[in-house]
Amino acid sequence: MAIKNFTVQDAMSMYGVKEWGYGFFGVNSKGHLVVHPTRDENLSCDVFDIVQHLRKKGVDTPLILRFPQILAARVTELNEAFHKAMREYDYAGSYQGVYPVKTNQIKEVVDQVVKAGYKYRYGLEAGSKPELMIALSMNLHPDALVTCNGYKDETFMRMALLARKAGRNVLITVEKMTELPMILKVARELKVEPLLGLRFKLNAMGSGKWESSAGDHSKFGLNTQELLEAVETLEKKGLLDSVVELHFHIGSQITDIRRVKTAMKEATRMYAKLYKRGVPLKYLNVGGGLGVDYDGSRTTFSSSMNYTIDEYASDVVYTTQDVCAQEQVPVPNLLSESGRAIAAFHEVVVVDIIGLIDTTHTKYRVELTGNEPQVLKELAYTRDNLSVKNFAEMYHDAITQKDELITLFNLGYLSLDDRAKGEILFWEVCRKLSKIFSYKSLKYIPEEFQDLSKSLADKLIANFSLFQSMPDHWAIDQLFPVMPIHRLKEKPTISATLCDITCDSDGKMEKFIDLKDVRDEISLHEPKGGEPYYLAFFLTGAYQDILGMRHNLFGAPTEAHVVVNEDEDFKVQQIIPGDTMDHVLRSVHYDPDELVEGPTRRRQNKSDAGEALKALLTQQRSLPTYLDTNER
Ligand SMILES: *Cc1c(COP(=O)(O)O)cnc(C)c1O
Repeated sequence: MAIKNFTVQDAMSMYGVKEWGYGFFGVNSKGHLVVHPTRDENLSCDVFDIVQHLRKKGVDTPLILRFPQILAARVTELNEAFHKAMREYDYAGSYQGVYPVKTNQIKEVVDQVVKAGYKYRYGLEAGSKPELMIALSMNLHPDALVTCNGYKDETFMRMALLARKAGRNVLITVEKMTELPMILKVARELKVEPLLGLRFKLNAMGSGKWESSAGDHSKFGLNTQELLEAVETLEKKGLLDSVVELHFHIGSQITDIRRVKTAMKEATRMYAKLYKRGVPLKYLNVGGGLGVDYDGSRTTFSSSMNYTIDEYASDVVYTTQDVCAQEQVPVPNLLSESGRAIAAFHEVVVVDIIGLIDTTHTKYRVELTGNEPQVLKELAYTRDNLSVKNFAEMYHDAITQKDELITLFNLGYLSLDDRAKGEILFWEVCRKLSKIFSYKSLKYIPEEFQDLSKSLADKLIANFSLFQSMPDHWAIDQLFPVMPIHRLKEKPTISATLCDITCDSDGKMEKFIDLKDVRDEISLHEPKGGEPYYLAFFLTGAYQDILGMRHNLFGAPTEAHVVVNEDEDFKVQQIIPGDTMDHVLRSVHYDPDELVEGPTRRRQNKSDAGEALKALLTQQRSLPTYLDTNER
């Protein structure tokens, strides 16, 4: 029987590229990962080529690749989705989104979002003073909005109101009752009429990890009574005309479209009632929450979502119109603050594998001479007699025998050689078991063995820090797609988990995407000696850069911004060096000048080694913090 060749189509389906890649990613005939930055199949570039190109320039992995065209494509897609839905339903209002700067504040990212959004009058959302500084510096369309959310102090208000006075459309969302007197005071002082929004605590909640962002116990927003009081206060001050927006946010990564519909019904009803009470609302701001299907399963699982961007826009528009018709009020202009859905796709993190932890001692096999202690003979018997018919009891025997081995060693009855042999015998049993589990004929693997198959997986060590590059995988178990960027015409032969290079045992990945489930291992290729093996992590463009932390003083990796041209050509627009050792040391208050001198200063006599050390430190301080893969 001919064995079917492993094809790039097989690789595509093995890693789920079509499902999570959303047309932005694919595999070419060389078996390399490609990017289609506009989702046009005919425009592509080879990611392996990009990495090779950068390597020649001395830029090494770990690497962040940013594709600004993907950001532009997402901005267009979101705006067009709302425009299309509004045409379809003959909606009398307009759509005007804002990008929440907190999702990814990196200058080139915000620049690109603003550029792509200009013709849509797309604006920015700021949640802190520095974010507001960023938003105010951008070249937005004159009609675009800058919205200010989050807790604010008087200075924040002053910045926003001065910008308003200077002619910018800066809208302040009132999150807390105590913000109101502050706004009134500063506005009176500056003689400027504020542009105000009221954030309402919806009863409806999101789903998944961010449920607590909404509902009665949420950190933000006014309850119904406070809303009424705010309206009264503003009315008394003659400022009711300033209140142009009603705002809510039901949390990030809404996985279930029904939550969006429920929230829209409640929010639009609230809008209509306030409108009828004389509040001249122009905008209904539906906040963020538009999800990203990280695992491609199209389910309500926390790393997925059961709707498309078009369905989202359509449901928001339809529900608003429907409720407004019932209430006989004019429809509001719709505003949304989608961050994740805009930024997630544009970033790919490429890492290289630097080694393999061979858990099961694959290289070793023990032959007994006959003079070994009894416990070794018993382990060898288990190994030799284990079969598909008796594996459960034999495995239990092996566990008992291994315990005995350690006890005897601790009591001083076994030599080092005996212990080594015994351990190898035990792993031989495990390897044999693992083979048995891979039999197609074995329909059912007992529960107690499911963890075993996880511990038998190879561990590949990748040159990166999980805490820096995918903090949400560590913090909230969010899944991100992972796959090699080359060798995709070769059938993967190992089942592996990944470790990073931090000294933290949590710095590992043991959960991977799957269309039907979550996998404990990922199928990969055995690294070949002397040849790099590159893996990529995808959809990391939202929140990961800024949440990323310098655990073990591993800093931000080097990044390259890549534009794809016709004919599979690409241009590296810019390379931004990763954090240097200098940078991370300063961030924890060391003076690198002193650190370089330090080791030699205390010695009276200058030694050659001391001088050499100083030279090495001097050379290293301006380099990135990761392992230098050229040394291998
Ligand atoms: C964080 C945040 C957003 C962005 O949410 P996404 O789920 O990333 O779209 C929008 N609005 C507010 C108020 C937020 O706090």
